[in-house]
Amino acid sequence: MNTAEFVNGTVKSHEWGPRGTAGATFAGRLTFEDVSLSFGPIPAVRGVSFDLKPGEIVCLLGPSGCGKTTLLRIAAGIERPETGRVLIDDLEMAGPKNFVPPEKRNIGLMFQDFALFPHMSIIDNVAFGLRGLRRADALNEARHALKRVGLEDYERDYPHRLSGGEQQRVALARAIVPRPQVMLMDEPFSGLDQRLRDSVRAETLALLKETRATAMLVTHDPVEALGLADRILLMRRGRLIQAGTPTEIYRRPADAEAARFFCDMNELTGRIRNGQAETPLGTFPAQSRAEGEAVLVMVRPQAFSAAPAGLGPEGFVLAERFIGDATLLTVIFKGLEEPVAIRMPAGTAPGQGTSLAFSIDPAQVLVFTADGSTPI
Ligand code: ATP
Repeated sequence: MNTAEFVNGTVKSHEWGPRGTAGATFAGRLTFEDVSLSFGPIPAVRGVSFDLKPGEIVCLLGPSGCGKTTLLRIAAGIERPETGRVLIDDLEMAGPKNFVPPEKRNIGLMFQDFALFPHMSIIDNVAFGLRGLRRADALNEARHALKRVGLEDYERDYPHRLSGGEQQRVALARAIVPRPQVMLMDEPFSGLDQRLRDSVRAETLALLKETRATAMLVTHDPVEALGLADRILLMRRGRLIQAGTPTEIYRRPADAEAARFFCDMNELTGRIRNGQAETPLGTFPAQSRAEGEAVLVMVRPQAFSAAPAGLGPEGFVLAERFIGDATLLTVIFKGLEEPVAIRMPAGTAPGQGTSLAFSIDPAQVLVFTADGSTPI
């Protein structure tokens, strides 16, 4: 994939190396069993258990301060858990009696700031993890990895001469070159310019699949996690709230807070009538609740489309905002105090000041108990 970026005021364009040329690893299984760690009074990670299958790409997702980085550091061996066990391929890396230091874990690490050694050339940065090999062999391997990320011409340069995107590639090459069983990546794209991020992300994903290492990536960006991960681990306040494929987590979030994390929802109060949640926007399936119970109904902005008159709740378009491929509408409906946010494909959206009927896709509606804690 071609990427172009500004370096010292000039545009540079270069290709990543051919796909399929990175060395494969023997992927490891990473297991956490009831792991906890506090910093003084702050419980950073609380009773976390999961099992990453060999070769799986997992995103650790959650708001700032929820414990993602601490969990990654525990996996790496930079932090030691207070309780619980960490295993790679069923071998105990950390536990009540054992602790294997980071350099003995066969893991690859990549940080948000790339953490390249400024005083070392690019090739020496990449060869750093191969100190066990003969120098000539280490340089050969490092050169091969640099070629895969398209930077073989930069081997004698120093990190400060490279753009952010190039530094990210060097860090990636350095992390994969020892063929780690498990790759741990902390916000690996957040330091990059938005224009570059998508292509770097796609290339990194291709490279991870190629090396077949098990990978755990920390991110606070739900869109990034949905696009990258085979499975998402959703964290909040030190706890693992939900684990599932991107589709499972998006379609069936564990609670209302998880749903809000992925999408700006319209939130209404409904009442159970004959096994349905009744709201001013219509009724939605909500089984096994008591008649008359209040429930929380969440409707995604993209659930709405124009309907023939009389075949859906009627709304009045208070405001419209064009955002390129979509239009955002602010619509008021009878019976609702708050206006509703609606997102429609550009070209299909009604203009400001119009009244019309809307139909609502029930697949884009989530119903929870009134406190938001349990999906119905
Ligand atoms: P962010 O996305 O902002 O990096 P995070 O989800 O990665 O956040 P952590 O960095 O793991 O969260 O932090 C979890 C909690 O532990 C936070 O309250 C943080 O302030 C605290 N914390 C992390 N490291 C330390 C430390 N070395 N000493 C004291 N408190 C810490």
